[in-house]
Amino acid sequence: MNKVFLKPGKDKAVIRHHPWIFSGAINSVEGNPANGSLVEVYGSDKAFLGIGAYSQYSQIRVRMWTFEKEEINLDFFQKRISLAIIRRQSVQEMYQDSAWRLIHAESDQLPGLIVDQYNDILVVQILSSGIEYYKREITEALIRATGIQNIYERSDLDVRKLEGLEEHSGVLSGIVPAEIEITEGGFRFIVNLVNSQKTGFYLDQRINRRISANYCKNKEVLNVFSFSGGFSIYAAGFSAKKIVSVDSSQEAIDLAKRNHGLNKFSEENNEWIIADAFKALRKMRDQDRKFDVVILDPPKFAPTVAHVEKAARAYKDINLLGFKLLNPGGILITFSCSGGLSDALFQKIVADAALDAGAYAIILEKLSQGPDHPVSLNFPEGAYLKGLICLKN
Ligand code: SAH
Repeated sequence: MNKVFLKPGKDKAVIRHHPWIFSGAINSVEGNPANGSLVEVYGSDKAFLGIGAYSQYSQIRVRMWTFEKEEINLDFFQKRISLAIIRRQSVQEMYQDSAWRLIHAESDQLPGLIVDQYNDILVVQILSSGIEYYKREITEALIRATGIQNIYERSDLDVRKLEGLEEHSGVLSGIVPAEIEITEGGFRFIVNLVNSQKTGFYLDQRINRRISANYCKNKEVLNVFSFSGGFSIYAAGFSAKKIVSVDSSQEAIDLAKRNHGLNKFSEENNEWIIADAFKALRKMRDQDRKFDVVILDPPKFAPTVAHVEKAARAYKDINLLGFKLLNPGGILITFSCSGGLSDALFQKIVADAALDAGAYAIILEKLSQGPDHPVSLNFPEGAYLKGLICLKN
């Protein structure tokens, strides 16, 4: 196996079992590792630190797979996948949903591998060249560990460029229909696995949809960035008086309407708006519209720290408008899924928004990604989703 030697003092993170080694930490590479192939990692004192996958093109040059001397083969992958399944068992029994994230990459000690389960189908996203290199073994290990034959790959993500990988989608095994139906929180949702955002559904908001629904009974609710209607369907199921859903994607709103119908909710007091949220919120403010609950679940405005400043302005803007659209005693449920934005900064942005809206608000609840999107103690970067439930006076 090829070898990577770290610079003096640059082994601290690996010793703490952090899975990333940046190119700047590497002193020398022995041999000529192919993109995605395995390397043994050594400290500057030549002490063995573990085995990782070499990413020739990425700033994250090595992603650690193990900190022990062990064979990386089908058995290794099967064991790691089985551990991920065991980690989720008690949570799955608690919620009884038919879709969840089965493998959350670095947090499940499989850097760059995402696997979402939808009924008896797995949808895989491959984000690192190491996982790509071992795709065949990993597919086989998934089948063995889960007993599921139907596997679809959705690696149609431009971040793969950073790893020197092309975008790719297609069936890896078995039969996968384009559209399926799942149940979540006792509600029915159509999921398009083949041609949709993410792997078809925002599974990371699963528990938050449930928590948010508690605030919607007999309320007038505005759900902005609604996608296929997640928060709106829960609100309807929890007897909201009126629900307005906004998304810029026609397909998302079409699907949201179908999901609404599928759950046999009345069409009365439901409004679907296909529009840019920034414009739609301004228009509603100008019309002096008011709601009891405003939900803001925007896309990732800051994928990395470099985008934070511009993203902060966008978050501030929508949250300010959100506060303005609330009745006294109203609830703002606001999220950020930007990994590059810290919890503290997000809270400050929401605080600034309240101040500028002339609102006094308190935090009732703090939310994060669901337990099937865990955060490893060795990899705090795995935390990306944050939410605040605020009450405005
Ligand atoms: N809350 C949803 C997930 C939201 S994902 C759920 O629970 O499933 C973010 C959504 O924002 C996507 O559906 C995307 O189409 C939409 N979106 C992105 N930019 C937008 C914009 N400028 N205005 C309105 N919607 C936008």
